[in-house]
Amino acid sequence: MEKRELMYEGKAKKVFKTDDPEVLIVDYKDDATAFNGLKKGSIEGKGVINNKMSNIMMQGLEKKGVPTHFIEELSDRETAVKKVTILPLEVIIRNISAGSFSKRYGVEEGIVFENPTIEFSYKNDELGDPLLNDDHALALKLCTKEELETVKKYAFTVNDFLKEVWKKCGVTLVDFKIEFGKLSDGTIVLADEISPDTCRLWDSETGKKLDKDRFRRDLGNTEEAYIEVMDRLVNSLK
Ligand code: ADP
Ligand code: UDP
Repeated sequence: MEKRELMYEGKAKKVFKTDDPEVLIVDYKDDATAFNGLKKGSIEGKGVINNKMSNIMMQGLEKKGVPTHFIEELSDRETAVKKVTILPLEVIIRNISAGSFSKRYGVEEGIVFENPTIEFSYKNDELGDPLLNDDHALALKLCTKEELETVKKYAFTVNDFLKEVWKKCGVTLVDFKIEFGKLSDGTIVLADEISPDTCRLWDSETGKKLDKDRFRRDLGNTEEAYIEVMDRLVNSLK
């Protein structure tokens, strides 16, 4: 496979075309942003960690029956993926209150929910990714009813899988964001990434934050937290 021109440069990844129209190469950067791009910085080594972690998680999810865009890890930062048309929906699952949930509803962080919650936001940076319900997504024709049902089913499977994997690492999965896309034949697959950029991960014993909140909230030792959580994952798989 041959890497061709840059197709898109996002906040955390570059996406390149290849000689195969159905295949893209994603290249993970160390760049970090928060608050819809308002806060900018970099987390050294993040790209390598996010690339490897996403690939581990996606391969595990395939075995659980969730189709993903993953094809092959090409290098520390680069992975070949199936090209999809991204559904403009950020799918967020929460097991514990935190972040925008706590802010929106005026509750403390750390409330453990009896059941996970799912929510969607409209993937639109100009509008600041507004919250949206099922009917809104359908009214805006962001996807079909069937696609929405598939996305929800897969999202809860992703949650069950990730919760289990992190539990074995002494890490509590608080919440996460995933994205889905459509292959040219219409198949819905999990795309984008699963990493400490997109998941809230708390040490199960101490509650120490091992994710991007360290960067968002200027808690310090962000690089170390990414390394620690990746090490724990790798060790749990040995
Ligand atoms: P952002 O666009 O939010 O700045 P990134 O820097 O992560 O985010 O850029 C990666 C972009 O590539 C995202 O817009 C994401 O939706 C998109 N993407 C992820 N996986 C695929 C895929 N398999 N095919 C096409 N686009 C993808
Ligand atoms: N998230 C993400 N990208 C976004 C918004 C949220 O990856 O654009 C992740 C975030 O890391 C967290 C979960 O989704 O794990 C829930 O985030 P929340 O809605 O609480 O928003 P935030 O507090 O990040 O603004």
